[in-house]
Amino acid sequence: MAFISDRLGRVKPSPTIAVTTRAAELKAAGRDVIGLGAGEPDFDTPENIKDAARRAIAAGKTKYTAVDGIPELKAAICDKFARENGLQYEPAQVSVGTGGKQTLYNALMATLDPGDEVIIPAPYWVSYPDMVLLAGGTPVPVACGIETGFKLTPERLEAAITPKTKWFVFNSPSNPTGAGYSRAELAALTEVLLRHPHVWVLSDDMYEHLTFDGFEFVTPAQVEPALIERTLTCNGVSKAYAMTGWRIGYAAGPVALIRAMRTIQSQSTSNPCSVSQYAALEALTGPQDFLARNRALFQRRRDLVVAMLNAAEGITCPRPEGAFYVYPDISACIGKTSRGGTRIVDDAAFATALLDETGVAVVFGAAFGLSPNFRVSYATSDAALEEACRRIQDFCAGLH
Ligand code: PLP
Repeated sequence: MAFISDRLGRVKPSPTIAVTTRAAELKAAGRDVIGLGAGEPDFDTPENIKDAARRAIAAGKTKYTAVDGIPELKAAICDKFARENGLQYEPAQVSVGTGGKQTLYNALMATLDPGDEVIIPAPYWVSYPDMVLLAGGTPVPVACGIETGFKLTPERLEAAITPKTKWFVFNSPSNPTGAGYSRAELAALTEVLLRHPHVWVLSDDMYEHLTFDGFEFVTPAQVEPALIERTLTCNGVSKAYAMTGWRIGYAAGPVALIRAMRTIQSQSTSNPCSVSQYAALEALTGPQDFLARNRALFQRRRDLVVAMLNAAEGITCPRPEGAFYVYPDISACIGKTSRGGTRIVDDAAFATALLDETGVAVVFGAAFGLSPNFRVSYATSDAALEEACRRIQDFCAGLH
């Protein structure tokens, strides 16, 4: 439609939302659907956090706040970075936005000019390339297959850097694979970055607290302190504290970048929800035992899903270090035909046939830039996961 901007024409709506919508339609039509598409914890926000929000409302904290966050929250974020990541930031280096999504978006909008390249390891969180396109930049996906555990190698990073590279996007543990970089793996990447001082690092640490088997979480500016001058360290309360609906994310980096991000935010949404900021303050400063309980729960589910998917014919499912996703490979299923008569030409066909024939909703790999795979979110009950995996096994057994 001519009325719609060229800018919008470059992007596509989120495919993860498309799958969730299709599953909801089938459910509404009376089908027994198990959704493994959602990217959010299946349990409620902890009570102490909800109480803090109620207190904030009662105290009348319901007005505009400073554009990029109340001072108490910024101070708590600085404490969090110092305590958990060994990173020293001042409040002026902190930006609070409406979800992690907005802080990432602000950063890209504030920095990208036409022709600027952004290196994005694939598979990637679906929003990175489209946000880059909306901001006028050029996404440069770099394939990271199952053979490297879905992780970027220093050689591939080096090869992707050009004089036009502005950002390198780093996400560990990763959505959609759950892959987490060890300190040594990350150090190999930061060594490359040290040789290219024009490249900035956008580290998306959203799944920091969801790691398993004692995995040590590390972030680029911590592994290579010299990078702090050109790193935006992004995080949020959505996934760790089961607060996806509250919409609070934050980032820390050089003051000039934070100021530029504030300008973008001041002319779009202004401050993030005042009540949610007080809730996030409680999340970061209140009891943290919720995190360990969470981790144990997700680790058990990961083990369940990995074992059951590997028992399905034609599926190879690596065991990830974190997040609440697995990203099984289905190369051995491609070219076969399902019991319902669908030829599995690619992972989109696999996901569509799986949903139509068994009622299990997953997101196909092409949406995340690496095929043939699909993403399972195991942020759902053990019973639902077991039943879904049983149906996937049965679906695969029927491929011929
Ligand atoms: N980064 C990654 C890797 C994510 O998976 C998500 C949410 O799915 C976000 C950022 C955005 O989180 P928020 O809900 O805080 O905007």
